[in-house]
This record gives sequence, C-alpha cells and structure tokens, in this order.
Amino acid sequence: MNTTCFDCSAELDHCHGSLVVHVDMAVECTEPGCVDLHVARHTLALVRCEDVDSACTCVVVAHELLIAS
Ligand SMILES: [Zn+2]
Ligand SMILES: [Zn+2]
Ligand SMILES: [Zn+2]
Repeated sequence: MNTTCFDCSAELDHCHGSLVVHVDMAVECTEPGCVDLHVARHTLALVRCEDVDSACTCVVVAHELLIAS
C-alpha cells in the first residue's frame, strides 16, 4: 500500500484501523491484522461500538437492560 500517511513514511509502528470501545470497556480494532490495541498506535478517532454499523452484542444487551428497567 502506497499512502501518504506520515507515520508510514516515518516507519512508525502504527495502525490504520479504528479502535472500537465496547460498553464493557473492551477495545477492538477494525483492522483484522492488528496485533496491538494500544491507543497510541491508532491515529483515527475512537468510536463506541454502538456507533459502528455492524450490530455489536453490547448494544443488544444495552437494549435489553432498557426494556427490563
Ligand atoms: Zn500509516
Ligand atoms: Zn460492543
Ligand atoms: Zn489496530
């Protein structure tokens, strides 16, 4: 991949995926090959899993809690 990413040209260890933060604070990366979920390696904004298009089980649980209350 030939991009103009600054970190790439600097050969820094980083990731182009988005960090997804789940309701239980578990962190996931959208990049399948991502091996290190440290925030510092990710230049893109953190997103909450409920804001991601693909439905996460966290959101289902949250909805069930709403219904139960
Ligand atoms: Zn890069
Ligand atoms: Zn989630
Ligand atoms: Zn990543």
